Amino acid sequence: MRAIQVTRHGGPDVLSYATVDDPIPAPDEVLVRVTAVGVNFIDTYLRRGLYPSQPPYVPGTEGAGEIVAVGSQVSDRGVGDRVCWCDTPASYGELVAVRATRAVPIPDGVSDEVAGSSLLRGLTAHYLLDGSTHPAEGDAILLHAGAGGVGLILTQLAKRRGLRVITTVSSDEKADLSAAAGADHVLRYGEDLVEQVRGLTDGDGVRVTYDGVGADTFDQSVAATGIRGFVVLFGAASGPVPPFDLQRLNSAGSLSVTRPTLAHFIAGPDELAWRASEYLGALADGVEVRVGQRYRLADAEQAHADLEGRRTTGTSVLVPN
Ligand code: NDP
Repeated sequence: MRAIQVTRHGGPDVLSYATVDDPIPAPDEVLVRVTAVGVNFIDTYLRRGLYPSQPPYVPGTEGAGEIVAVGSQVSDRGVGDRVCWCDTPASYGELVAVRATRAVPIPDGVSDEVAGSSLLRGLTAHYLLDGSTHPAEGDAILLHAGAGGVGLILTQLAKRRGLRVITTVSSDEKADLSAAAGADHVLRYGEDLVEQVRGLTDGDGVRVTYDGVGADTFDQSVAATGIRGFVVLFGAASGPVPPFDLQRLNSAGSLSVTRPTLAHFIAGPDELAWRASEYLGALADGVEVRVGQRYRLADAEQAHADLEGRRTTGTSVLVPN
């Protein structure tokens, strides 16, 4: 089959379009002909070697497609089923072997493109609001990168929970998208960000800050969060946060900081099924996914360059063939 390979650690140019062996499904796996591949920041962290990985390998963790074969132990998925997944290695290919328990059926009315480019971010938004923290109706939250893939979905889910959502973005276009997703206040990054957030919250600061930007925003995230509030560092789009003195949490207001990852919130099949049914159900119920960028699979290099270069909004999808 044709697939993308990471040939060595480095920038987007280490991605090459290659011919590799077809995957052979294990007894507990299904073989999927891929129709949509999700492009995520974790793919770039692994490509750079920021997270451990051993080239050469086929990157990717997320996608959607149609089952073309099932392993001998698989009884609850069948040939022809449309499925999506978000924790399966080697997803940047025409065929992917997915453990049957991790292959989530796609409901009617949800496209492969939407499911295959948003399950990972959608489940992330879900566990951030109902897992790593539990903000309650009326609470104010601060969310960086409000027009990003996680940002647009999390904003919509947060509004459904009755939260007040303050976002940050870097451009007018992104500000419009974030506002259209329901953000109550859309701010720009900058020196007076903390002052603005305090101004919008009667001086109190927000209950929870969701920070997927990392190095560039973390100090402001801490400063914008109110007494006994939570800072959720869930990514490093601008680079990893340097070592942090825990004593700072005391003077900042008895804050809690957490650094969660999706894998620990969908580890068991029941939790994956619950979060997936809530997320995919929300799509059927009006939550919108903006597929902001589409590329041919062969153009994965461009997709990575755009994601890392802040040129994307919403999700990005690679289409084989
Ligand atoms: P986004 O679509 O949000 O893209 C990242 C955005 O971050 C950019 O568009 C940009 O928006 C903003 N940004 C700010 N500074 C930089 C910078 N220096 N370089 C690049 N981007 C920057 O990405 P995703 O929705 O895919 O992911 C958002 C974050 O969530 C990532 O950090 C990702 O790793 C993390 N994540 C974490 C998970 C977890 O379980 N922990 C799971 C899934 C994602 P703007 O221009 O408006 O600032």
